[in-house]
Amino acid sequence: MPALNETHDLNLRSWVVSANAADTDFPIQNLPFAEFRRKGSSEAFRGGVAIGDQVVDLAAAAQQGLFSGAAADGAQACAQPTLNEFMAMGGSVWSALRLALSRGLREGAAEQASLADCLIAQSEVEYSLPCSIGDYTDFYTSVHHATSVGKLFRPDNPLLPNYKWVPIGYHGRSSSIDVSGQEFKRPCGQTKAPDATEPSVGPCKRLDYELEVGIYIGKGNDLGSPIALDDSDKHVFGMCLFNDWSARDIQAWEYQPLGPFLAKNFASTVSPWIVTTEALAPYRAEFSRDPADPQPMPYLSSELNSSEGALDIKLEVLLQTEAMRNRGDAPAKVSQSNFIHSYWTVAQMVAHHTVNGCNMRPGDFLGSGTQSGPEHEEGGSLLELSRGGKEAFTLPSGEQRTFLEDGDAVVMRGWCEKVGAARIGFGEVVSTVLPANK
Ligand code: CA
Repeated sequence: MPALNETHDLNLRSWVVSANAADTDFPIQNLPFAEFRRKGSSEAFRGGVAIGDQVVDLAAAAQQGLFSGAAADGAQACAQPTLNEFMAMGGSVWSALRLALSRGLREGAAEQASLADCLIAQSEVEYSLPCSIGDYTDFYTSVHHATSVGKLFRPDNPLLPNYKWVPIGYHGRSSSIDVSGQEFKRPCGQTKAPDATEPSVGPCKRLDYELEVGIYIGKGNDLGSPIALDDSDKHVFGMCLFNDWSARDIQAWEYQPLGPFLAKNFASTVSPWIVTTEALAPYRAEFSRDPADPQPMPYLSSELNSSEGALDIKLEVLLQTEAMRNRGDAPAKVSQSNFIHSYWTVAQMVAHHTVNGCNMRPGDFLGSGTQSGPEHEEGGSLLELSRGGKEAFTLPSGEQRTFLEDGDAVVMRGWCEKVGAARIGFGEVVSTVLPANK
């Protein structure tokens, strides 16, 4: 893993004053990457790094020649409308640019005057996808989600016997992944009510979100050459928040025997910022498996993975109905969870995905699967919170929900915090459901 180094120092302060606020997602210890341009402009998208409430324009910084060596090469690659080339360059370049930015943004830095010219307020920018996502794979790593959803779909047999041996996943579709702010039409499709004799086609009636984290592959691997468990960090560029929208009624009818298809590929939304693997280093945590469960097979097990394979990322979901939005009510919290409950680690997902020789390419994307915690209130989807649509819950506005209504906006947030390390955040991912095609 990337070692803790001077960029993680809790005592660092930035000359960008907003980066020193206790509750900012983007202190100088974070430095996540996105693609942005001025809101409403026809400027080219280019790479940027968040600091406080500002963005460092990496194209401008590269043009000014503010960095040298590998950091300069990295910044130059980030000047493009996707980060794929930068992500392909690997850990030494990612770290060199992070270090140069950390030093340049610190209080007292000689680069302050020139870097200040490269800042744009986040309130004045819009984002695109940070990279071109070639392939998208969705895992299913929360045993709590798998068990509670399994109970709804198969009451007698909730957790299938392979679950505790194989990091379950399926190949998704990248074309419908978009960045925060995405608005999409309620999907239509084939569904069959339990008491109906035949299926019908029409708008989804059980539209849901899935609270996930997303994992971006940086450096790829050659076809036929698996990524070993302990080499995963050399390949994983960073992580984001991910809402993997799901049509539960379409899913229930179509999923056997090959798994999800049209219930999942109509929209998925990522947060704009990629928090790097290096920035997350202070939040690595022990990974262990209940002694009563099968222990991970040798290719999914190592000392390193056991000592620091897990990640402590706090997650929450908020909902804002159209009526709330019209009244100016803030989104209301619906549930909270933590990626630390994941049954499989990021490294295990990567090692398993490539054990057969499958090649990953820069910009490939892995969804973690819905991250539900052990308690009912920690459900990462409405399917769980409403117990399969049987129990409506009431929002502070008095409105009730089992599944999503048109006009509902779902907000997800994530952050890491602990004593002795700087709190870092992921920002948020928000997206809104529009009415189905007539
Ligand atoms: Ca999913």
